[in-house]
This record gives sequence, structure tokens and C-alpha cells, in this order.
Amino acid sequence: MLLTILLVLGIFVLLAFFRVSISSWVLAMVLAVFVIASQARVSDNALQVVSALLFLFALFFGVPFLRRNVISNALLKFFRNNLPHISATEQEAIDAGTVWWDGELLSGHPNWNRLSALPKCSLSVAEQAFIDNEVEQLCAMLNDWDITHNRADLPPEVWQFIKDRGFFGMIIPKQYGGLEFSAQAHSAVVSKVASRSGTAAVTVMVPNSLGPAELLLHYGTPEQKEKYLYRLAKGIEVPCFALTGPFAGSDAAAIPDYGVVCFGEFQGKASVLGIRLNWEKRYITLAPAATLLGLAFKLHDPEHLLGGESNLGITLALIPTDTPGVQIGRRHFPLNSAFLNGPTQGKDVFIPMSYIIGGAARIGQGWRMLMECLAAGRSISLPASSVGGMQLAARTCGAYGRVRKQFNMPIGKFEGVEEPLARIGAHTYMVDAARKFTALAIDMGEKPSVISAIIKYHATERGRIVINDAMDVHGGKGISLGQDNYLARFYQQIPIGITVEGANILTRTLMIFGQGAIRSHPYVLKEVAAANDKDRKRALLQFDAALFGHLSFVLSNAARSFVFGLTAGRGIDVPEGVETQRYYQQLTRFSAAFALSADVAMALLGSSLKRREKISGRLGDVLSLLYLGTATLKRFEDDGRPADDLPLLDWAMQDALYKIQLALKGVIQNFPNRLVRWNLGRLIFPLGARLSPPSDQTGHQIAALLMQPGAARDRLTVGMYLPSDEQDAVGALEAALHSTLLCEPLQAELTEARKAGKLKQLEEVARIAEARDLGILTVDEALQLQRDYALRRKVIMVDDFAPKQLMANQG
Ligand SMILES: Cc1cc2nc3c(=O)[nH]c(=O)nc-3n(C[C@H](O)[C@H](O)[C@H](O)COP(=O)(O)OP(=O)(O)OC[C@H]3O[C@@H](n4cnc5c(N)ncnc54)[C@H](O)[C@@H]3O)c2cc1C
Repeated sequence: MLLTILLVLGIFVLLAFFRVSISSWVLAMVLAVFVIASQARVSDNALQVVSALLFLFALFFGVPFLRRNVISNALLKFFRNNLPHISATEQEAIDAGTVWWDGELLSGHPNWNRLSALPKCSLSVAEQAFIDNEVEQLCAMLNDWDITHNRADLPPEVWQFIKDRGFFGMIIPKQYGGLEFSAQAHSAVVSKVASRSGTAAVTVMVPNSLGPAELLLHYGTPEQKEKYLYRLAKGIEVPCFALTGPFAGSDAAAIPDYGVVCFGEFQGKASVLGIRLNWEKRYITLAPAATLLGLAFKLHDPEHLLGGESNLGITLALIPTDTPGVQIGRRHFPLNSAFLNGPTQGKDVFIPMSYIIGGAARIGQGWRMLMECLAAGRSISLPASSVGGMQLAARTCGAYGRVRKQFNMPIGKFEGVEEPLARIGAHTYMVDAARKFTALAIDMGEKPSVISAIIKYHATERGRIVINDAMDVHGGKGISLGQDNYLARFYQQIPIGITVEGANILTRTLMIFGQGAIRSHPYVLKEVAAANDKDRKRALLQFDAALFGHLSFVLSNAARSFVFGLTAGRGIDVPEGVETQRYYQQLTRFSAAFALSADVAMALLGSSLKRREKISGRLGDVLSLLYLGTATLKRFEDDGRPADDLPLLDWAMQDALYKIQLALKGVIQNFPNRLVRWNLGRLIFPLGARLSPPSDQTGHQIAALLMQPGAARDRLTVGMYLPSDEQDAVGALEAALHSTLLCEPLQAELTEARKAGKLKQLEEVARIAEARDLGILTVDEALQLQRDYALRRKVIMVDDFAPKQLMANQG
């Protein structure tokens, strides 16, 4: 009997695994119950009752007409009554953008062939030339200490260079005088500039991100495009976009700023139909220098001058800042960064209707327009600037760890320092992979809203981990501000990226899974659409198909999670390659587990899931890590599977898989229902949670890779600005690394001569001269060691100031 039950359960697992049709399920269940009932030798009467029940079951589930009108109809009513309330603004956020690789991850069965078929992430010849020339020149002009400490602004010649060379017009088509760059190139430009100066990077990225140009390109009237795009591309207009205000930050749709449709006087003409605006905005980047203000406000038409409703919704307008009543120019001071950021107010500012972006047809569509455009900008700007800082940290920490010695050892060789070095290397590797992968999606025409939240959150959070580690590795050198400190401004400024474009806590807990599960799920949106469909017949047809598809999807993911949990993913068909095969398999295993947990969370918690941010945050972590893992594997493949990069790949993937395991365990442990906790735990981790974090040995290999010039180190930091000037702090450090390695045998000779008592001088420079005079070193060798000493000293020293120089307002 037990054997029969086990056999039946095994068959059910297989049916679920292969997602067979409803009729196959009905047949299998009828047979199973019949066989078990006969084996159990139940009485004839009981057998008759069982047969009757089975007949009814087969009838109501196996005959589509009956199933739809009885089962699905009842469930549709229940679903309609219990549908979580989705506000209009939430709905617009869910509807905005497209589903890309996130859809594969939520399918429980990612199609790796689709990944392999994607093109490589690359730049065109013209784009690469721009990066090698214009961007290189711009970086050489940037002195971040001077910018952030002395001027609190970019020098005028840098502003001019940025405008003249088209940096403000990277997303604007050539027909309007822009550079018309791919997202990949746009991202590479921002990233390189950020590796030199955060202030310059923000200044360059904002006009190319969510703002007037992007909005005009998508929604502008032909006249607006003609009027502004050329001027924006050439930097004749400096744009900003103002959404946030004192009373509406994260909840931006709640802006109190308003406009009232009325007749007014405009440029000498009386009785012009327009809008009288009042606003109070803050934190607006580039506002202090802006000539063109993009403004979000709520439009009212109490006198029905436009002939419709009185509350028209969020609307966007472009307002020249010299319009009477516009107040602009004051500055905030964001964490010692010197990019322009400030408040703006307007009191009874009158604008004509033609200032509305897209004209009267776009009235009330502002929120949707912003949500649609956010995906592209958020996918590029902040991830790129984070990567610039992370690459700078990786390159300099490796070099500093090798050049700086304590206890007669390069500090990077201490196991304690190897740990942060490993994190720095692997996070940089993974985030840069995700940056390029996401830019590829944009270039393929996607507007990946959920992915843009994932990459924004993880690039900035991992940027924070990396810079914190980099500061630790540098000790006092990282703390002391001045010309020679290449890390501290990045350290100070990283919270800016974490706060803007969706502050990170909210992004993690509300957006990634909250929107992602609904947006990317293969069935939920269809069920919701059916529930909202007023046409009863069509709604029932759609709901029935979606519901039973969904049911089969859940059962399949349960079966797959269990089977893959037993084999730890072994046996799953994935792209070949010994180094990567297990990672693809584990990602597939956890994709099934994630899809199952997401469905259980939605079914169990219903509308309360919105408030259960700790659970949805952890589910968001799983989705994010699956995405980052995919991007990392693609990068390894795109780079030609270089063996030297294996420690980076292994650490990044093992860390991600281990954290997926932790997050899933956290989800399971915190479900409110004990039975669900127990069952889900057994389904996803039938043999327990067996993955471990990356080994110390892998971390050791990454530390060595960072401290040694070579192809892997160059690949990790490819695209960052590397000054060749030895007077520059980063240039000197790079030269010092090479020199340290070159001079090591000579240093050993000196140490031996000193131990043998041949050298008496106490100071290093004098000792080198003494060794030269005694013939222990040749003249060239002595010169080499003197240069090495000078470079090491330059690297180790920090700035100091006369007390007066540090007083405020010293100019
Ligand atoms: C330097 C800088 C530049 C900026 N540039 C611009 C710009 O050019 N244009 C523009 O319009 N805006 C701009 N902003 C505004 C930026 O987008 C907002 O700061 C951001 O939306 C957060 O709003 P807030 O700062 O008021 O924080 P709050 O909304 O007060 O949030 C505080 C904290 O609460 C968390 N939180 C809020 N709600 C939830 C929730 N439901 N669940 C979980 N956590 C939640 C947030 O994650 C955050 O951690 C800029 C901001 C800064 C600092």
C-alpha cells in the first residue's frame, strides 16, 4: 500500500515537472484514487461513493465548458472580491516599461539559449574613439579636489568643454545635433568620468537621464523638438527636471504643486489660454544653472476651460527659467560634492499651454511619462557612476596593498586585508557585468523597469560596500582629505546615489519584487486583467486559461524545486563549460524555487504582501541575485572565458548563490503559516541548505590578482581613467606598483648587504647612494631605487595644510 502511494506521488511529481495538460491530470488523479481505493479493500458502498465523486471531479475539471462556468466562475468572483487594491499611480508604474530577462527568471525555467544568442556588449568605432579622445581629455582636465574644495563647481573651461563636445547630447539623435550614442556608450562615458570626478559625472549624466531631452524625444510636439533639442545637444540650454519637493519625496505622486487653467497675459498679449503655476521643489540637480526647467505639477481646470474634468492629473511642462516668477539659483550642498543642486519655487507663474510637454494631448499623463522614461535613465546613470568609483577603488586598493608595507610585508598580503580586497574585486566584476548587460537591454529596445530598479539598487549598495572596504585598506591615507586623496570624495558621495532615483530601502522592499512579481509573472497580470474585464464571457475565458496555466506553473515549480533540491541542480540541461555549468544549473534551480516562493507569498499574504516589506525585500534579493548571476556568466562568456578571471567569477557566483539561499531561508522562516513553512522548506531544501560562501583560497587569489599588473586586473578596470602623470595621485600609485615589483630584487640585495654590515647609512636614500658608491648597485640601479623611493613616498604621504587654509570662506 505504502509502495503504491509512493509510486502515485512519484507519478504526480513527474506530471507536475513536465507541466502536463489538465485532462492528463484529471485522468491521472482518477486512476490514482481508484487504484488506492481498490488496494485499500474498501467496502463496495464506499467504492461506489468514491467512484461517484471521481466522476463529478472528472466532469467539472475535465470538461472545459463546465470547468469554466462552475469552477472558474466561482473563483473569478472570489478573486474579484479579494483583488489587492492597486492605486492608479501604482498601476501606471506596473504598466510602464517592458519585461526582459526578469521574465525568464520568474518563469522558473530560464532559457539559457536565449542568453547565449544575445550579442556581445560592445561599442561602435566612433563611440570608442569618443571615449579614447574627448572623454580622456575631459578626465585629464578634472582635478576633483580643486572642484570640490576650492571652487564648489566645475571650472568654466570644463563646463565649456562638456557643452562644446556634446556631452549633454549623448541621447539626442544626430538630426538634432546630438551624439546619438548607444546606451552602452553612454554608460561607458559616465563610468569613465566617474572614475575621475563624481561631480563631473553627475553634471554629464543628468541631462542624458530622465529630464527634458528624454521627455521631448518621446513625447515632445514637433515644434518643441525643433525648438529645444538642438539647443540642449549643444549645451546652449542647461536643463533640469523638478519633481521632488519638501512634502513629496519617495511618494512623488503626492506632489502638492499645482497649476490652474486660466486666461492670462503673456509676452505682451492679453487673454492667452494658459496655466497659473505654484510650486516648491528641492534637491533639483543642475537647477542653480538651469535655463530650462522641466516641472511636474497637478493640473486643475475648475472653470472647465478645456471642456473636461476639473482635476486633470500630473502634467509636465518645460519652462524657460527667465519666465517672470521663476525663482532659481540657490544651492544645496550634497555631501561635499560640487555638482549643482538646489531648490526652485514659483509663485503665480503664468505659462501658455504650448509649454506642456507633448501639448494638450499629454495633459494628465505626466506620471506615466515619467515612469516610462525612468527605466532607461535609471538603468544607466547611477550604475555607471558606481562602477567608475568601484573600478577606481579596485585598481588603487590592489596597488596600495602591494606598495604599502607594514611589519615588513605588503599590507595586501595579510589575510585580514585579503578579505576586503576579495570583496572589492568580486563586487566590481559582478556590478560591471550587470551594468553592461542592462545597457544591452536598452540598446535592444527594452525599457526594463524592474531590472532598472535591480541594477540601480545593487550597483549603489555594492558601491558602498566596496568604498567602505577601500577606505579600510587605505587606513589614514583614505581619511585625510586633500589633493592626494582619490577615495574620500567617492566615500562621501556614495549615499547620494543610494538616495536618488528611488531611495534604496524603498527600491528593495517595494519596487523590485512588489512590481516585479506582478509585472514579470507569466500569469498574474493576465488574471488581474481578466478580473477587471467587464465583458463576462471574455473575462471567464481569459481567467480560466490563466488560472489553470498558473496552477500548472505552481505545481511544476514545486516539483522542479524538489527534484533540483535533491540533485542540487545536477542534470539540468545548460550551456556547456566546466567552469560555468554548475552555476547555470544552480541559477535554474533557484529560479524554480523563487517562482514557487513568489506564488506562495502572493497566495498566502494577498494584499498584505504590500506591507510585508521584509518578505518582499528578501524575494527581491533573490530575483536581483539571479539577475546579477546571469550578467556575470554572460560577462565571462563575452570576455572569452579567460582562466585568469576565474577567481572573480567563482567568488561572485558563490557569494550570490549563498545569499540566494539565505534570502530564501529568510522568506520561508518568516511566513506566518507553520504548515506552509514546513512544506516549502522541504520542497526547496529537501536535503537542507548546503551551499557555502566563497572559500578563503578564492579570496586570496583575487587579492593577488589585484596586486599584480596583468590582463585580469586590466580587464576588471577596463574603461576607467588612468592618468599617466606621475605627479597625479593615481598616476603615481600605478607607477609605484610597477616600480615596487621591478625593484624587489634590488631591495633584496640591499637588505642582504645591510645584514652583512656593509651598509651603515640609516636613511634609505643615503643608503642607496652608499650602495652605489661601494659598487653593490650600478648607477642605473641606484637611480631606479631612488625613483622607487620617491614614488612610494608620494603614494604614502597625505596632504597637510596651514590651519588658516582649512578655515571656512578662505577662498
Ligand atoms: C543630491 C540629490 C539630487 C537629486 N536630484 C533630483 C532631481 O534632479 N530632480 C528631482 O525631482 N528629485 C531629485 N532628488 C530627489 C530624490 O529623488 C529624493 O531624494 C528621493 O526620491 C527620496 O525622497 P526623500 O529624500 O524626501 O526621502 P523620503 O521619501 O523622506 O524617504 C526617507 C527614507 O524612507 C524610505 N521610505 C519611504 N517610503 C518608503 C516605503 N514605502 N517603504 C520603505 N521605505 C520607504 C526611503 O527609502 C528613505 O530611505 C535628488 C535628491 C538628492 C539628494
